[in-house]
Amino acid sequence: MKKILVIAFILFVISVLSCAPKNSAVTYPDSDPRFAGQLIDAAESADAYFWRPTIYGPLFYYYDKSTGESGVLCSDPNCDHTEPEKCLGSAQGTGCPSLTIIGDRLFWIATRQKQDKSYVYSIYSMRTDSTGRRIEHDLELPNNTTPQIILIHGDSIYIYSLFDTVESGVPINDVSLLRVPLYGGEATTITRFENPASEFLDVKVRAMGDSLYYLFSKGYEDGAESNVIFRYDTVSRVFESVYSDNGEAIRDFAADENGCLYVSYVAREDRPARVCRIENGNLVKLFDFSDEDRYSRYVRLSDGIAIGESYDDYAQMPTLWIRRLDGSTLFYGKLPDSFTNSIHGTVTFINAIAFCGDDKYIFISFEPIISDLDFHEWPAFFIRYEITENGLIETLLCSAPPVSIGG
Ligand SMILES: [Zn+2]
Repeated sequence: MKKILVIAFILFVISVLSCAPKNSAVTYPDSDPRFAGQLIDAAESADAYFWRPTIYGPLFYYYDKSTGESGVLCSDPNCDHTEPEKCLGSAQGTGCPSLTIIGDRLFWIATRQKQDKSYVYSIYSMRTDSTGRRIEHDLELPNNTTPQIILIHGDSIYIYSLFDTVESGVPINDVSLLRVPLYGGEATTITRFENPASEFLDVKVRAMGDSLYYLFSKGYEDGAESNVIFRYDTVSRVFESVYSDNGEAIRDFAADENGCLYVSYVAREDRPARVCRIENGNLVKLFDFSDEDRYSRYVRLSDGIAIGESYDDYAQMPTLWIRRLDGSTLFYGKLPDSFTNSIHGTVTFINAIAFCGDDKYIFISFEPIISDLDFHEWPAFFIRYEITENGLIETLLCSAPPVSIGG
């Protein structure tokens, strides 16, 4: 009997080990609430920041926190970073932002052409010094999966996919939410539905602890709007609606550690932008974004903060109003813009790709449109603003191509 128990125990251990990650010493951290689900592709380790410009940027960049050095994330001293096949910093084939640090490695999802010419989504990784690049595995996804948002959270990859198709002559969006094990295995479909393409669908994803939140806001042909927020419990795998309305479309949303949800709305006509909290399925207004001088046009929500933006001129930096979610002000004023001194040409649109952060730092990716340069010569900048009592302190973390702005 004892022997059988021992064998049973060994079999049990083997079965547990066989489905564990390849490197069981690695623990899988939660996604970074400042960057996950945003359009910015950035990650922070204890020593450095990592970034990739736009969703089509061909190279990874780094910023060393201790030395202030930055550049292409390529440790080959003989590389001029012009040949993607040879450059260690190459991000070729990357689609949606997905950059994540796990242990001492960077992970990201990218498309890859296989020998039979078909394309597959693969999870790549490399050490944070750009060495040791490898494909962890190819993602086993249902046919027609077309990722729009990818988020690596805990031991899983979460994908929001929207595939445009036509059914009985009617264009539709085939929408699915998928969960894929980070260490390999088939995708599970959290939910899947069809949306008429004539109805505008905006989807956002946020993660916090055991919860993933999905916001579906819609605009209909007759001008009506609606919102639904679902919560997916990553442990019990229950997917349920936690809020719905037929009101104005929600612009942005965020969750905190206590499971509270915050939503923001854009300014409309003579009504300012505002931030609300969802309490027991009801909207409770917290504060709006108007003062004597101006309205904030948009309000983005990030890790414990709300960022209101207003522009006098889209070719210049916006005025930001950064507030905690209790409404108290952390900063109000025009964004410092020393980095624009390095731009040679006429900026016609400052193009802030994302504003995100917390009550200490905010991060912005700027990809200005320059009227007298070809689009492939337009620069991109990854800026950190430290929030202090005396205003914002601007640090250019990375730029593509690399520049020095001095001072
Ligand atoms: Zn290189």
